[in-house]
Amino acid sequence: MQLHERPKLVPPDGHNKVLLHSCCAPCSGEVMEAMLASGIDYTIFFYNPNIHPRKEYNLRKDENIAFAEKFNIPFIDCDYDSDNWFARAKGMEWDPERGARCSMCFDMRFERTALYAHENGFPVITSSLGISRWKNMQQINESGIRAAAPYPDVQYWTFNWRKGGGSQRMIEISKREKFYMQEYCGCVYSLRDTNAWRISKGREKIKIGVMYYGEDDTPEQA
Ligand code: SF4
Repeated sequence: MQLHERPKLVPPDGHNKVLLHSCCAPCSGEVMEAMLASGIDYTIFFYNPNIHPRKEYNLRKDENIAFAEKFNIPFIDCDYDSDNWFARAKGMEWDPERGARCSMCFDMRFERTALYAHENGFPVITSSLGISRWKNMQQINESGIRAAAPYPDVQYWTFNWRKGGGSQRMIEISKREKFYMQEYCGCVYSLRDTNAWRISKGREKIKIGVMYYGEDDTPEQA
């Protein structure tokens, strides 16, 4: 497979070993190919207990595993400890997206990523989460830095994966690979709120497992 031309990326302090927290194949596709093109030695860490329901979780995870296998990238499949996620989200059920619940959600995922990096010799962690234009990059970076702070041997790489055409390549790769297109952020509350918004616009509720990039009527979203 021919990878896009990109300027060479160098992780912080010249390290070449990275643990990439991945939320799904569409968001990580460009990040993975960018790191591959730069010869970075990386491993995918899939820890997303926020994703609900389990069917959606399996769709996102299995597709990410299949894409990693294409490049022989190691894939760490971490727990689906959704009970802990719901416990931490208690009291924040009605928070809007990009609010305190999302900070908690990023914190939880990155805390586990940073711990794994510390215990397994990864000096740098980063995430595919920030490539989505629906996310607040600063909020994500702050969570990543907070998660790495207890470990002097681990740092969070705040690289902006959207820039330099990254956002566009993310769509191109998703269409090329015909990735599953999730239509909500991931948790049960984002599913509820997205459905409420769709109904207010006269649209149907989300149907899990039916939308794929590259289909004729696929919207230009990410
Ligand atoms: S909206 Fe997304 S980031 Fe926010 S809590 Fe839900 S799954 Fe996590």
